[in-house]
Formats: sequence, structure tokens, C-alpha cells
Amino acid sequence: MVKSPEEEHPRKAFGWAAKDTSGVLSPFNFSRRTNGADDVTLKILYCGICHSDLHAVRNEWGNTIYPIVPGHEIIGAVTEVGTNVADFKVGDIAGVGCLVGACHTCESCESDLENYCPQPILTYNSVVPNGTITYGGYSDHIVVPRRYAVRVPEGLLLAAAAPLLCAGITVYSPMKHYGMTEPGRHLGVVGLGGLGHVAVKIGKAFGLKVTVISTSPAKEKEAIQGLGADAFLVSRDPEKMKDAANTMDYILDTVSAVHPLEPLVALLKLNGKLVMVGLPDKPLSINAFSLLFGRKAVGGSVIGGMKETQEMMDFCGKHNITADVELVSMDYVNTAMHRLAKADVKYRFVIDVANSLSN
Ligand code: NAP
Ligand code: ZN
Ligand code: ZN
Repeated sequence: MVKSPEEEHPRKAFGWAAKDTSGVLSPFNFSRRTNGADDVTLKILYCGICHSDLHAVRNEWGNTIYPIVPGHEIIGAVTEVGTNVADFKVGDIAGVGCLVGACHTCESCESDLENYCPQPILTYNSVVPNGTITYGGYSDHIVVPRRYAVRVPEGLLLAAAAPLLCAGITVYSPMKHYGMTEPGRHLGVVGLGGLGHVAVKIGKAFGLKVTVISTSPAKEKEAIQGLGADAFLVSRDPEKMKDAANTMDYILDTVSAVHPLEPLVALLKLNGKLVMVGLPDKPLSINAFSLLFGRKAVGGSVIGGMKETQEMMDFCGKHNITADVELVSMDYVNTAMHRLAKADVKYRFVIDVANSLSN
């Protein structure tokens, strides 16, 4: 028998939601399911503000279901564990990223690639098979299956570790998959935002030479001195771009808006690979000639599976990698979104959820 929404979601929850395409967020009362046998419940401590949250609240991808509670860079304290969950206990710290479910029977799921399941359940804005909608981490608590919670290595600052749950895995996974990890090779990171600055840190930990390719000359000093990049290239300077042609083995493109790809492909050496992780709302174009002459490849990648997400967390624990964050209160979220739209953040806003969310 089909359950009523009240039966499916009997526990009260509170967060901030956007209610229309203005993307403006405001307080929102909703409800969540009770903790099931395979679930853990987290009291949310911190949640990063990913550019995907901004695309989603403004319906830039055309698939937003309002009201939407965004947030998929979640760190929380475990408050309940299901009877089948042996490896988390109340009081543990856990992370939740972009996924909270998948079919678990397809080839992707069976290969620990839940992120490529044809029926993924995203942390927010997904319709669950029972008809309810998922709500994300700009909220007081969340209930997720154990499979979708990861351990946060000891020693990482929790607020700064939150962005690893999306930005971290989104750049780590393609670097592993496309073999962008050979020490001494040259990686270009396009866009020095949330994803980009974590890519610089992970790239350096793999032993790569890293060049930031940016539209913002003002970010140069920090990119080199603060983040450890080896070089900085202003993508709007055609002379400098020309000088850098044929020098890079790999490029990771994190840009959130439509931008020309040809000048980036020109930076690649023979057999170079450009991997897209940014998700502009409109198509990008490429001339076949620029790929063929140089045997270059363009690929893509979306977040990562849960096993690899844990591997990435452990890698970041080992190398002491976290995001550079600006910690903000919940009621700053609309200003933060405006600033994010203008690339005015160094380099990730994180909401201090536990200390600033009041009902
Ligand atoms: P972000 O913090 O806003 O960073 C994006 C950066 O792109 C900006 O800081 C800026 O860097 C550059 N940029 C912005 N507008 C540009 C333009 N018009 N032309 C050229 N460069 C521009 O965003 P984010 O959170 O890192 O996310 C980046 C993109 O990845 C978003 O589209 C997001 O939805 C997507 N994403 C994808 C996945 C996935 O699984 N593949 C996961 C998370 C996010 P400079 O100032 O250095 O130029
Ligand atoms: Zn994200
Ligand atoms: Zn599946």
C-alpha cells in the first residue's frame, strides 16, 4: 500500500530553500524519514556551497523541483545508527556528498561506480522511488544509507574538509581514471574556484607540475604562494596563451560558464587530454581539426563512487589536503550565492550550519 507523505517522512526538519527561479533562499520547514536499519542520521555541522547549488537554485539546468534545499558537501555528527550498521556509532563524524542512493544492481553500481548508475538518487532535487523529493545539507539533519556516508580522517579541520565531499572527489576521480597522476607531468587547471583550487592541491600531491589557467589575474600571487601552483596563465591574454601552446599533458576544466575550448586544447601536447568537470548550461564547441592534429582527447567525469570517495578522503587525510574556506552563517547564504556567481570567493563558502541555523 502506498504510504502518505506524512508516513514516509514523519520527522520534522528545518533548513533553507529556494522556492522559485530567483534562487533566493529562505527558512523552510519540511520533514525527513526516520532512521532505517541500514541508515545513519547526521546532525549537520558544516555544508559547502558548490556552484552546482547555484545552478540548481536558479534552475539553470532546467530540472529543478521547487522548493529546493541544496547542499551536498556535508559534514555531520552521527546521532542515530540503524541495526544493520556496524561501523558507525553515535558521536562519530561522517561526510555525505552528492549521492544518497542508486539502483545497486546495474553494472556501474556493481563496479562501485554508483555515480554512473542510470537511476542515481542525488542528495537534493531527486525524486525517490516512493515519490518523495530529496533535500540537501542546508538543513539541520539528514538521514542516509550507510553506503553513502564516508569517514573523515582524523586531523582534518571539519569545516575545511566539507568541500572534499563534492569538489574533492570531482577532481580526484578523473585524475585517477584518466591517468593524470604521473609525477613530473604537466597539469593545467582551468578556473580557480572551489573545484579548481582543490585540483591544484591534489595535483601537487600526485607530484605534477600544475599551471592554473584563469580569467582573474588577481588570483596569481595566491595561486602560487598559497596553493603551491607552479605557474599561472591568464586565459584572456592571447600572447601568453600562445607561448604556452603544446606544453601540457592534461587539462582539467572546472569552468561553470560557457567559454572557448580551442585555446585550451591548443595548450595540450601530442596525446594530451582535456577533461571537463564544469557544467555550463549551454553546449561548448570544438573544431575536429584541433583534436585530430595532435591526437588529443576530450573527456568528462561526474563526481565519484562511494568507494573512491572514501579513498579520496583518506588520500586528503594523508596529504593534509582541505579546501580554503570562508565560513559563513546560514543567513549569509544569499550574499554568498551572489558572490559565487561573480567568482568572488577564496575559494569555497562553507555554511556553519550547526551554529547559525535557528528555527
Ligand atoms: P566556482 O567556485 O564558481 O569556480 C568556477 C571558476 O570558473 C571561477 O572561479 C572562475 O575561475 C571560472 N569562471 C567562472 N566564469 C567563467 C567564465 N565565464 N569564463 C571563464 N572562466 C570562468 O565553481 P565550482 O563549485 O568550482 O564548480 C565549477 C563547475 O563544476 C560548475 O559548473 C559546477 O556545477 C560543476 N561541478 C561539476 C561536478 C561534476 O561532478 N562534474 C561536481 C561539482 C561541480 P577564474 O576566476 O580562475 O577564471
Ligand atoms: Zn557540488
Ligand atoms: Zn545502478
